[in-house]
Amino acid sequence: MSKTIVIGAGIAGIMAARTLRDAGHVVTVLEARSRIGGRTHTNHDLSNPVDLGASWIHGSEGNLLTRIARRLNMRFAPTDFLNRSITAVRAYDENGTPLDQTKYAEGLQSGLGALYNYSGSILYERPKGATSFKDVYKYGLPKPKFRLRATQLGYKYQTLISTEYVSSTDWDKLDWSLNGSYIKLPGPDQLLYEDGFNTITDHLAEGLDIVRTATVEKVIQEADRIAVVTKNYTFYCDQVVIAVPLGVLKANKIQFEPPLPEEKQGAIARIGYGDYEKLVMEFDKFYWPKTAQRFNYLSKGEPSLFNAWLNIGHYTNRPVIVAYHAGRRARKINTWDDDTFITEAVAVMQKLFGDNGYGEIPRPKNYVRTDWQNDPYSLGSYSFNQVGQQAGDRETLAKNIDNKLYFAGEATHPHMYATVHGAYETGVKVGRKIIANSPEPEGSIRYTTLKHEHSARAAALLALCFPTMLPDGVYHQDDLEYIAETFPEGTIVALDGDKVVGLGIGVFVDLDFDNMPDTETEVTYPNQKTYHDPDGQYYYGADFCVHPNYRRRGIGSQIYIRRKAVVTANNRKGFAAAAVLPGYAEHKATMDAHTYVDKVIAGELFDSTLSMQLKNGFRVKKVIHDFYDYEKSDNWSALILWNNEGYVAA
Ligand SMILES: Cc1cc2nc3c(=O)[nH]c(=O)nc-3n(C[C@H](O)[C@H](O)[C@H](O)COP(=O)(O)OP(=O)(O)OC[C@H]3O[C@@H](n4cnc5c(N)ncnc54)[C@H](O)[C@@H]3O)c2cc1C
Repeated sequence: MSKTIVIGAGIAGIMAARTLRDAGHVVTVLEARSRIGGRTHTNHDLSNPVDLGASWIHGSEGNLLTRIARRLNMRFAPTDFLNRSITAVRAYDENGTPLDQTKYAEGLQSGLGALYNYSGSILYERPKGATSFKDVYKYGLPKPKFRLRATQLGYKYQTLISTEYVSSTDWDKLDWSLNGSYIKLPGPDQLLYEDGFNTITDHLAEGLDIVRTATVEKVIQEADRIAVVTKNYTFYCDQVVIAVPLGVLKANKIQFEPPLPEEKQGAIARIGYGDYEKLVMEFDKFYWPKTAQRFNYLSKGEPSLFNAWLNIGHYTNRPVIVAYHAGRRARKINTWDDDTFITEAVAVMQKLFGDNGYGEIPRPKNYVRTDWQNDPYSLGSYSFNQVGQQAGDRETLAKNIDNKLYFAGEATHPHMYATVHGAYETGVKVGRKIIANSPEPEGSIRYTTLKHEHSARAAALLALCFPTMLPDGVYHQDDLEYIAETFPEGTIVALDGDKVVGLGIGVFVDLDFDNMPDTETEVTYPNQKTYHDPDGQYYYGADFCVHPNYRRRGIGSQIYIRRKAVVTANNRKGFAAAAVLPGYAEHKATMDAHTYVDKVIAGELFDSTLSMQLKNGFRVKKVIHDFYDYEKSDNWSALILWNNEGYVAA
């Protein structure tokens, strides 16, 4: 079995390692710091954990992190950045005078509309040659004529200030023409306010072989192996995953022999990498309105400072508040010593809150500040699209070299860069790529029911079998662990040694064939957690798959024999499932799905799934649409049932 070394235990490196480990690969992670998590870093020095790096799940619908956070019972709540509720954001002008909330919110929302219209409207004439956000803002952005200052300032915050904050850079460095490559998932941004992001990274890293304080200095490609050199030790492997921040690559902190190809070096140089810092302060009580989630301060100055505040206390009921700075603002405050920084922060708080009814603001009783810019293992915050960057640079950065050097990390994601979920995906993708490039050995097969120790490998097998399924559309390791606890005998596992090479998942449910739920998920996953009804009268067969390298060896039939035995041994009425119709793809232009299924039943057409299931004793109950996502057959499938002839009514 080939060996992989992953450099960096941020979420990308963790997921690359986990994907490989789960598929039975030998993998070691080398992490420079004494902690894992990278740019997710939950600090425990204050009265509740605070994230010093990432703190929001950006776009929570369809985001695989939301699902993990739910499964881990983490507490999270949305932040209403655009102040749709009118109470979430309180804004103040440069003198600290509170602005009309409603009018300010109108300005924020209009600002976002302007940014979208600039990129999307065909009625809007864009200025020629406008590349940087500075050009766009100065000469191109639609600017409604607001009468009220509060609205003007809301517009200014959302367009100019927020854009610089979100992209962690400055308006003249940010290439707005590349902005369309970023895809934000729908749903609100959820703040993990109580437990912190490291609950997720620690969970995902469980059981991985991670060597800490192992700073990699060199990666040397030898004739038949790769040497990964740290200060104290050299590790050898067949392939390496480089999952360090872009800032570390830019600074040439890792030497490559031979040097990285020129096109990759070019991409590393061109992709932007910004700065973003937090000052977290804890007080003895609330000296600011607890009801607001955020405060915006439209301060003057170049750069203007202390524009963005998060009231963590709103969520936790503890008097903790965070001041943010990005781009040149972050670099400016990073030149201040702690005393100056706190003095300046308290002076601003006095203006915004103290002078507006909260009295004299004392110095905080405790504080933590970040310095991602000078941290040798991040050297900045996250990537952005920089003036001079080329459209394909992120893909070039992601490209592997000779199936030996693989690259992961947020900056390699073409659409979800600068986020935790984006970094997560890059790790999984690289892990899968290495698995696909490694031949699997053959062996003799054993069958058993699902146990805890199979869940990771079983999840990896599902991911391999259903590569086009969205990450939150397949069973994850946690789901399988839950099934292993609640109904292990319903899931049959085929093993080659320790390797899971086949899997048939099933649960007991009650089914009314005339009134089926709209989707299979509603049958097997009705309330995010409950899969199995011990009194259910039918066994419902959910995901089934056999490793591509082990197909045509009768493993599928063996799994089906054992699934049917679950039905008979437990005296259930039958075994139901949705059979996809791969063969329909060829016929959909000439006949509807009902006709196709009739012809398969009559033996006039062969369908690789349905014909086999009919041979296996299943009968078609009905032809159904959109019950199971299967693009090839336009989401048509057949609801099939194997009747338990020996069923005895209670
Ligand atoms: C202040 C801040 C706020 C953010 N807010 C959000 C947010 O709210 N939501 C969101 O989705 N994203 C946010 N992000 C971005 C998000 O944190 C990152 O995109 C993501 O965590 C990056 O993961 P990664 O695995 O690519 O890199 P990292 O997490 O940086 O992991 C890289 C790892 O490599 C290690 N390493 C570096 N050099 C070496 C070496 N030579 N040898 C061995 N190991 C090495 C590092 O120590 C690190 O552990 C924020 C980032 C920052 C800095």
